[in-house]
Order: sequence, then structure tokens, then C-alpha cells
Amino acid sequence: MTTRTAQPRTSVIDRIGADGPVFSVEFFPPKDESGEAELWRAIRRLEPLDPAFVSVTYGAGGSSRDRTIRTTARIATDTTLVAMAHLTAVSHSRAELRHVIGSYAAAGISNVLAVRGDPPGDPLGEWTAHPEGLTYADELVRLVRRSGSFCVGVAAFPYGHPRSADPDSDFRRLLGKIRAGAEFAITQLFWEPDGFLRLRDRLAAEGCEVPLLPGIMPLLSAKTLQRGPELSGAPLPPGLAERLAPYTDDPKAFRAAGLDLTTELCETLLAEGVRGLHFYTLNRSLATAELVGRLGLGRAAVSA
Ligand code: FAD
Repeated sequence: MTTRTAQPRTSVIDRIGADGPVFSVEFFPPKDESGEAELWRAIRRLEPLDPAFVSVTYGAGGSSRDRTIRTTARIATDTTLVAMAHLTAVSHSRAELRHVIGSYAAAGISNVLAVRGDPPGDPLGEWTAHPEGLTYADELVRLVRRSGSFCVGVAAFPYGHPRSADPDSDFRRLLGKIRAGAEFAITQLFWEPDGFLRLRDRLAAEGCEVPLLPGIMPLLSAKTLQRGPELSGAPLPPGLAERLAPYTDDPKAFRAAGLDLTTELCETLLAEGVRGLHFYTLNRSLATAELVGRLGLGRAAVSA
């Protein structure tokens, strides 16, 4: 359905767990016309399943950043979906950040995921703040909250952020972001539930009730299995690689087995009472739609 006017400003927090568990999806801004067409096919396929919200990541370069603003704005105006834009502090002055936040507000976007971002080029390279910019995500949370009526989320790391001295100090930083005004957190992807559940229990023990949404990357290819743990810092559970080993040379069978494993992970998380699952889609829709159907989430739950 095409509406062409901005949707009423529904906040992500209103959509999380209001009537049982939900799902949400993450896209990245497309680089060219064919990427744009692929993204919109994915959005249109997922729209009828009623994701709680749809987020668009914020890239490192200027043109990619413009595409984030345009894509998120189009989701807010041309679809029935609740849009959330990501925003990073890296390479921006405070004035530039205020300008982007203003563009989001003007486009009818009232949900922002405030993350620090990584140094352009080398994610693990030395972090240098813009001379007139911010250093940590908690400062960005405050800036976005001060700049208007936004619902703000932050990133969380079940196994600690790769730069943190230890998981305990990283946990304190997460609490700091929430105390700065974040209303929910989305985690880095992971492969077994324990780290996520420990983090969630730890937040609860601190009296912190903001929803913690697990970030789920469907395990569809041998490449994801190889690179995922390296990129996320999350360990592979014992036996997982062995379970997938017979399918390494058979992409179709690998995908089927990987989807089963992802379903099992999601089922465990839902049985543990998570309020939503956030899917990293890589701008595709089929695997997410299949998982949502298997798990009975979104519109699948209504029509079941
Ligand atoms: P911070 O919370 O600032 O933490 C960074 C490091 O500093 C951590 O080690 C933390 O422990 C430490 N720290 C935090 N506060 C303090 C403090 N006050 N004093 C001392 N140390 C502190 N990247 C993009 O470029 N674009 C995106 O759209 C994007 N989206 C993401 C979405 C999700 C769900 C996740 C999990 C990550 C995303 N990222 C994105 C990646 C993210 O930018 C990086 O992982 C980044 O390195 C950390 O961001 P952060 O917001 O957690 O940073």
C-alpha cells in the first residue's frame, strides 16, 4: 500500500512487546539502482508481515549517509511501516549531527538508533573523535534526546564490545547509555543464547527494564559461519560447526540446515520471554519471512 504521507509518529517502544513478541528488520542503504530495487522488493515482501519497526543503518561516507536519510524517509512516507534511522557519531561535528537529526525529524522519523560508529576503513583502527564532535554513544543519546521528541535505542554486546577492557566495564557503559535516555537496546549478532540471556538478567538485576532485543543473523551460508564469529566477537556454540560441516559444499542444504539452527536459537529466545527479535536481513526478505512464519510472529501470528 502506498500512502505518500508521513505515518503518525509511532515510537519503537510502543511497538515492542505490546501484544506478545514482535519482530523487526534491519536494512542498509543501497549503493545503486539495482540495490535499491532489491531493497524495495524486500521491504514490500516483509511489509504485510507487520514488522514492529524497520531500521536503516548509517554508513561511513557522505553519500551513503544521504542514502540512509532518503531511504528511511521513504519508508516513513511510502509504507505502513514504523521507520527507525541509525545515526553514528564518527567523523561528524555536533553541528552536523544536529543537522542530520533535523533532517530525520523533517522526514517524519522519530526513532533513532544512536551508535558511535567505527573508524572509516578499519573498524578496529584507532578511534579519533571529530574535534567538534562526540566520543561515546551516551553523548549521542543525550544529543538526540535534547534535539526533539525521539525514541532512542542503543547497541549492546552480549560478549562485550571488542574495544572494551572487560565485559564488566562494557556492561557499565551500556547502563550509562540507558541512563542517558535510551529506551531500548539491540544486540550484536550471536549464535547461542547464553551470553544474551546473561546480559538481559544482569540488566534486570540492576533494575533496568528497557527491552533488550537480540540481533539475529540467519545462518544461510558457509561464509556467514566463517566470518560471523570474527565480525561479532560471539563464539560458536560447541557442535554447531560440526552440524553444518556435511553441507559445506552444498549451498542449498547448508541454507536449510542453517535456517533450522537459526529457528532453534529464536525458539529458545522466545521461550525465555524476549519481547522481540531483530533480524539482520542484508536487504533480502526470504529467510526472514520464512523464520517469521515458522515462529508465528507478526501477521503470521494473527492469521494462525
Ligand atoms: P559506545 O557505546 O560509545 O562504546 C564504544 C566503546 O567505548 C566500548 O568499548 C565501550 O565499552 C566504551 N565506552 C563507552 N562509553 C564510554 C565512556 N564514557 N568512557 C570510556 N569508555 C566508554 N555502525 C555503523 O557505522 N552504522 C550503523 O548503522 C551501526 N548500527 C549498529 C546497530 C547495532 C544493533 C549494533 C550492535 C552495532 C551497530 N554499529 C553500526 C556498529 C557500532 O557503531 C560499533 O560496534 C561501535 O564500535 C560501537 O558502537 P557503540 O554505540 O556501542 O559505542
